[in-house]
Amino acid sequence: MGMRFCSLSSGSSGNCQYVETDNSRILIDAGFSGKRVEELLKSIGVCPTTLDAIFVTHEHIDHIKGVGVLSRRYDLPIYANENTWIGMRKTIGNIEEKNINTFYTGRDLEFQDMNIRPIAVFHDALEPVGYIINHKKSKISIITDTGHVCDDMIKEIKNSQLYLMESNHDEFMLKEGLYPWYLKQRIMSDEGHLSNDDAGKALGNVLSGNGEVVLLAHLSKDNNIPELALDTVKTSLYSQGIAVDREMILGLSHRDRPTKVYNL
Ligand SMILES: [Zn+2]
Ligand SMILES: [Zn+2]
Repeated sequence: MGMRFCSLSSGSSGNCQYVETDNSRILIDAGFSGKRVEELLKSIGVCPTTLDAIFVTHEHIDHIKGVGVLSRRYDLPIYANENTWIGMRKTIGNIEEKNINTFYTGRDLEFQDMNIRPIAVFHDALEPVGYIINHKKSKISIITDTGHVCDDMIKEIKNSQLYLMESNHDEFMLKEGLYPWYLKQRIMSDEGHLSNDDAGKALGNVLSGNGEVVLLAHLSKDNNIPELALDTVKTSLYSQGIAVDREMILGLSHRDRPTKVYNL
């Protein structure tokens, strides 16, 4: 058996992904209250006491809200790079020394039977990362909270069986919407969030049409609509020669409920 993946929920108000092998169970981020994360896990039949660790992408609240509570409640090790630790320390509260683990961005980590590589992304946090997780022949790439996707990232994430890819906003909705100008600029910048168009372009460079699964993630509540994100990415992929539905599976992660559990 390879890996199992479930996006427990993803959106600008909270993010939490679950990855499992036969020997390990981890969360990537826990951006909801501890109670909500427990409910989400239980809804897919996972008891929170069986978790092994939480890996954190960056210190924004929609990624760390429940990290401290869960670590204390279940004696869970937390993994993050040094700057993310600096950024989240106050918010997540007291963590037992033995549960504080620091990694280097770009350097592989062996975690039980998983090989985990945190890779740099472009976002207005101290040292934000995406994660590439390998186990046996399965590979998952988790890329959210990035203003753009560079060639190095494309090279790193290629050949995954599953991509969780940010598709944060529709550029027109954001420009015409009610957000103040400074916030629009922040989101649109190279270190903000990925638009539906940019997600489509990046995926076109990554996919080979061999049945990969793509889940669009971190959708904005105000500047996106799930069907629009799907449509925009689908159209973009078609224009780049990838027959969505026939050659790959395109889906969404949801703001308020888990996806199905994908077996890879
Ligand atoms: Zn963020
Ligand atoms: Zn976020």
